[in-house]
Amino acid sequence: MYYKPNSTVFLNGSFIKAQDAKFSLYSQTLHYGIGVFEGLRSYRTKDGARIFKVKEHFERLINSARLMNIPCDYTVDELIQIAYLLLDRNDFEEAYLRPMLFLGENLSLKITGHSNLFIAAFPWGKLLGDKRLDLCISSYVRPSAKAFHVEAKTNGHYVNSILASTEATQLGYDEAILLDPQGYVAGGSATNVFFEKDGKFYTPPYGSIFPGITRKAVMEMAAARDIEVIEKSFTTEELYKADAAFFTGTAAEVVAIRSINKVPYQKEYERTLTYGIEKDFKNFVRNSYDSNYTII
Ligand code: PMP
Repeated sequence: MYYKPNSTVFLNGSFIKAQDAKFSLYSQTLHYGIGVFEGLRSYRTKDGARIFKVKEHFERLINSARLMNIPCDYTVDELIQIAYLLLDRNDFEEAYLRPMLFLGENLSLKITGHSNLFIAAFPWGKLLGDKRLDLCISSYVRPSAKAFHVEAKTNGHYVNSILASTEATQLGYDEAILLDPQGYVAGGSATNVFFEKDGKFYTPPYGSIFPGITRKAVMEMAAARDIEVIEKSFTTEELYKADAAFFTGTAAEVVAIRSINKVPYQKEYERTLTYGIEKDFKNFVRNSYDSNYTII
């Protein structure tokens, strides 16, 4: 359940009870998937609730809106302020935040008028759990960058994610890995992917992937540990031959992969760099224990 009788959401300039929030069934976003959204996490830190990379997330929301020709009436600073007020009104420290810019009544295929801003906050555990994942290579590929702005977090893009994720569940796997239209590894349905080989990390470059904020944070964490991260296109063969692999994402955080298409990684997990990064990510976001290095 995403809300309780006393939960508060933000809708178009006001904080209102979640159960009183209403919108039209003639919304263009509902019919055609044209809307943009974000997913952020707030953590309980020694300095109170802190939203992980809040500025980057709202910058990306505004950029997604720009790419999709959706007007946005708010600045990044205003969005940050609303997000913290929302946490406060719901008395949350650890929460997932879901802002969305969506469109009103309009069944034509042209964007008209203004957008609406909705922000909800609710407790949400790690999307894919805490255990290492058994994945399959999806029969669905990620949308082509020639058909969509794949770097925008557009509501309709997630139909592709849901198809891949549902197929994986139906086949008995935890999640899917999607390839890009050229046949290179792209990522999970809502995650970026890294693999580890001989002490280095590899991750797909921008182009077909979604530009994850957790991906970037993990690259910074790796750099701080002198782990080289190589952005390059790679095939499933390279992924199979890796020492370890992991997903990154706001909802999933950092989660290790145990096997792909039933082929398990051979290296003892606790001896991999992946293990250290997964553990450190948890500590950094919650405790910021290293005073020289803040990830938030
Ligand atoms: N790829 C896709 C397709 C996603 O939907 C997400 C989640 N936003 C990610 C990667 C991870 O991005 P982030 O780390 O910014 O949450």
